Amino acid sequence: MGRFELDKWDVRRLYEHWKKHRLNVRPEYQRTKVWPDRMKYALVETVLHDWPMGLIMINVAPHVEAEGPPVEYYEVVDGQQRLATLFEYKDGDEQWVKKAPPKGVQFTPYGKLNPSFQEAFDEYRVAVAVMRDFEQDEILDIYSRLQHSKPLKIGEKVKALKSEFKPHVLELTHHKIFGLASGRHRVRDGHWNLAAVFFKAVYRNRPLDRQEFAHLDEFLRHEPYDPSRAKKAAAETAKILNFEYRMAEEASDQEPNFEGNLASPRLIKWMFASLQLLFPRYVLSGREHLLAEGVRSYWHARDQEGSDEWAAYLNTGRTGRIDTDDVRACVEQLMNRMIGASEAEALDPKRFFSREQRGEIFANSKGKCALCGIKLTKTNFHADHIVPHRQGGPTEVKNGQALCTACNRKKGGNAELFE
Ligand SMILES: [Zn+2]
Repeated sequence: MGRFELDKWDVRRLYEHWKKHRLNVRPEYQRTKVWPDRMKYALVETVLHDWPMGLIMINVAPHVEAEGPPVEYYEVVDGQQRLATLFEYKDGDEQWVKKAPPKGVQFTPYGKLNPSFQEAFDEYRVAVAVMRDFEQDEILDIYSRLQHSKPLKIGEKVKALKSEFKPHVLELTHHKIFGLASGRHRVRDGHWNLAAVFFKAVYRNRPLDRQEFAHLDEFLRHEPYDPSRAKKAAAETAKILNFEYRMAEEASDQEPNFEGNLASPRLIKWMFASLQLLFPRYVLSGREHLLAEGVRSYWHARDQEGSDEWAAYLNTGRTGRIDTDDVRACVEQLMNRMIGASEAEALDPKRFFSREQRGEIFANSKGKCALCGIKLTKTNFHADHIVPHRQGGPTEVKNGQALCTACNRKKGGNAELFE
């Protein structure tokens, strides 16, 4: 069980720890800086008036073994914004310090303060609660209670976990495919979440979970760690991400405005899910440009009024969840279009219909859904096993029928997409 020690540290001491990289103002679970400038000016004023500011909580992180006496490292559990503001003020490099303050605000940059005021600033005593011997879980709990009882998002929690998988996932978060998603949709921890989910799916050699995020924490905590398997999974994940990135580039080459659409973490996720399933079954390499056409045609299906898949996309895709039947239908549609456009040959005809078989099935259907009779097109039909594959139905034309999205969904769709 951890303990708190109440103390007062002056700004100089905190600043020096920070300068020596011994005080981490932004541990991984911390949220990004959000303070508006006016609060920064107000805080500086508070300190220069020598008025009290709230308690800062600092956890003593386990010291790193090195030559010589042990050195303590600190991480700020609460008070990140305030300390960062004081350090920025002292450094004088940030915009808010350099620019003219807003009207009505009294403000002098640190560098222009009278030396006695500089000293007063440096000697201002900050009330500090020093935390020792806390478990990581307790620290997170304390932290999340302090955030106006806003619990940590799963991504933040997972990110802060000690996990042997972490280095592999961290490496993957740097993949440039995630750079695409960072523009308009700057999602806090989005990269981490996506990379971790993708890694998990490959490590387990199973498609994405229905409740991917809820299980992420569980996975990172309790999944037995097998170093060689983990290394392989990271490489395999990177391979799919590379392929996906090449597809994304092709798609924006074909259509310059398309890049903005690729900024959706959701589309990145759906493409990954599709590729993960298609890779072992189809010959895809060298067909990035064709697959990209499939992705684009899928995307533009939103223009088809009443398109089932697109309605689903709008209704449920917004949350980025992948655990609903509607999203499943979307991913299937995406896969269908990718297969259709790529003219890819099936590696293993036992599970999926080949391109030729799909052609025959469509011809036999006379362009109509076998169940409801609605009109179908070559790009939006599902080649369905009449007797489901998992019930022993063969992947042969005589066991195939063309279905619309809705009927395919009713029938249960591609059970392999999710667990
Ligand atoms: Zn139908």
